[in-house]
Amino acid sequence: MTLPEVLQPLHGLFMISAFMIGIAVGSFSNVCISRWPAGESVISPRSRCPKCFNSIAWYDNIPLISWLLLGARCRHCGTAISMQYPLVEALTGLFYVAVYWRFGFVFATPVYMLFCTAMIIITFQDLADWTIPNEITFPGIPLGLVLALVGMAWGEVSGLRVTDIFDALIGMVLGGGILFALDRITVFILKKPGMGFGDVKLLAMVGAFLGWRGTLGTLVIASMVGSVVGIAMILYFRHVASEPSDDGETTADAPEATSSQTSNGSASEDEITLEGHYLPFGPYLALGAIIYLFIGPEIVETYFSIIVPEPEPIMLYDGMHLPSGF
Ligand SMILES: [Zn+2]
Repeated sequence: MTLPEVLQPLHGLFMISAFMIGIAVGSFSNVCISRWPAGESVISPRSRCPKCFNSIAWYDNIPLISWLLLGARCRHCGTAISMQYPLVEALTGLFYVAVYWRFGFVFATPVYMLFCTAMIIITFQDLADWTIPNEITFPGIPLGLVLALVGMAWGEVSGLRVTDIFDALIGMVLGGGILFALDRITVFILKKPGMGFGDVKLLAMVGAFLGWRGTLGTLVIASMVGSVVGIAMILYFRHVASEPSDDGETTADAPEATSSQTSNGSASEDEITLEGHYLPFGPYLALGAIIYLFIGPEIVETYFSIIVPEPEPIMLYDGMHLPSGF
């Protein structure tokens, strides 16, 4: 019996454990998302209500469950607790199950669980604070390179996507380089604020973890999803601006719109609103990286097998084959 066969009956148990560990890690991720931008410690003090500063007891701090039992409100002062908390916990739990389901019982599984955690934190911090935490990208870049070395020594058995340090190095330089160049072009040639160095470091980290194909794949997916969402938002704000109804109601769905929008809902307002909307790129990059992690290499392989038909292998002596790429 091989190891996977021995572990087969425990599959369900591992799935449940992955989910439990995921929501617990997600709970800690929430602490990082709310404290890192303020430069606070994520270890102490204990979690407190941001309004009444009462400490949150352990029984009110159980991932997912407490939020539901408390009806999304603080036990002491009744302040609403953001949807972000259960959302990050549930997402992390589901991603942990998905990573285990996709990669199985290998070294790469906890690595990619950690990678998904990083992408979730980056997404939510970028959405809330417009920053991408250096706390993740600074250790993340060298960690990705070290893991490529591990992959190189251990090979395919590790389950790692990158098993070549040069792949990781090129991915890192390419990822950082492309976005750095884009940022400089935007600032000096287009005279607009650039995308920011957070994104540069993020794609460098993704490149170190997923190799140069992963960098390009992530960028392609991020740009495609970003365009679709961008166009949808433009259409949405056109629609909102063209509606004659009063302002308080129409902007209720767009939390950031209120600060830049004045109360007369004339047609020209929609330009101002759009300009005032900073669209962070980090969430798209994080989404692109996760999609690539799960199915990227397989999509690329399928694509090229359809576009470029597999050539007949060239026969060498003793029945040895050259790989079809040569
Ligand atoms: Zn409170």
